[in-house]
Formats: sequence, C-alpha cells, structure tokens
Amino acid sequence: MTDTEPSAPDEPSALLLEELAEAAGRLEGADPLEILRYASERFGGGLVLASSFQDCVLIDLASRAAPGITVAFIDTGFHFPETLAYLGRVKRRYGIEVEVLSAGLPASEWPCGSARCCELRKVAPLNAFLAGRTAWVTGLKRVDTPERELAPVVGWDHSKDLVKVNPIAAWSEDDVEAYVVARELPRHPLNAVGYLSIGCAPTTAPVGEGDDARAGRWAGTGKTECGLHL
Ligand code: SF4
Repeated sequence: MTDTEPSAPDEPSALLLEELAEAAGRLEGADPLEILRYASERFGGGLVLASSFQDCVLIDLASRAAPGITVAFIDTGFHFPETLAYLGRVKRRYGIEVEVLSAGLPASEWPCGSARCCELRKVAPLNAFLAGRTAWVTGLKRVDTPERELAPVVGWDHSKDLVKVNPIAAWSEDDVEAYVVARELPRHPLNAVGYLSIGCAPTTAPVGEGDDARAGRWAGTGKTECGLHL
C-alpha cells in the first residue's frame, strides 16, 4: 500500500470517469487479485473494504493483494450469533482489525424489517464510514440480482460519491466455492444448514438444494436489495 492518499472528490471529473472506464475495460476478465492490486496502487490508504462476513473470500483476496486495507462490518444489531462468531474467527485467522459500524439513535424507532430499517441500520452507517474515503471494495457479483448484472469491476458509485471496486463481479457461485475450497477458507457455520447468502437473522432463511443462493433473503417480500449497492 502506498503512502499517497488521494483526496475524495465530491464530483468525479471527466478525467477520472474516463480513467475508470479505461480501467474497467482493461480489467474485465482479470483475476480479482489483479483488480485489487490496481485499486490498492491507485487509491492507496483511501481504499477501504466492506464485508458482510457471510464468507471471507474478499478478506482473503485483500490479504494477498491489498494487505493492511481498512475493513468494515455493518452491525445492524440483528445478525446471527454465528455471524459474529465467524467474524471473530476471521479476524484471528488474518490478524486484522475490523471497524464495526453501528446505527445511530433514530434506528430505535424503526424495528427490524420496517420501512426504514435497512436505510438507518445499514445504509446510513456505511455512508458515514465512506465519507472522505476515495474508493471502496465490495463483494457484489453480477449473478446476485438483476440489479447487479451490469456492475463493472471498477466504476464511480453515484450513490456514495466515490470509486467502487467489485473484484469478484464476474464470479459465479461456483467460482466462489472453488476459491473457498482451493484456499481452504473457513466457512460460515450456517452454510452447513442451508444458509448460503446471510444477512440479518429476521430476514434471512435457509434455501433448498439447488435454489438460488439469495432466495432466502427477504423471502416472500419482493425485496432483493437493502440499498447498499444502489
Ligand atoms: S436486513 Fe432486515 S433486519 Fe437487517 S437492517 Fe435490513 S430490514 Fe433490518
């Protein structure tokens, strides 16, 4: 990681947008490690990573390509105890600190699953964390939802006003699984009982054999995104 920390622009310049488009084209199809190395060299200490700790694929990749990167976890207060235990296990394995982001007081008036719950418990703490940063790394994949199917590997995040780096955007669930096996990564304990995409406990259910991994998220509500990636 370099010592240079470019300041976060309020609005992307035409030059930056051009640079990001060029990088996205050049890095499309590249190994996620190469994408992360580019991001680490380009954005230095202004680059941060947000993980849901449903797995540690992104942490493992970053440990190899962007060691020392700041890692954050959004604690909505509704996580499975297994997720918090897994977070501790991953922290110990990689010897990393994780910045835990919590909701402010207004969230107490919006109970779990209510209209503004995700906004106040997830989006607002993340936005506060990202303010003043230059770029953030996410684990989103194009196969996750229709809304994500055009996600570039690097681009400008208009909802958060910084660069967004999606090193595994092009990966399938099989690619993730192959990486977990190859790197012998620890698995979230709930994987063993059918939970494949894991968010808050009240709004996450296990899925059946062969079902879409995200079918258990907000099942039966029509909701597919919490607002973090809009
Ligand atoms: S995923 Fe569910 S419980 Fe978690 S913040 Fe969003 S609405 Fe609330």
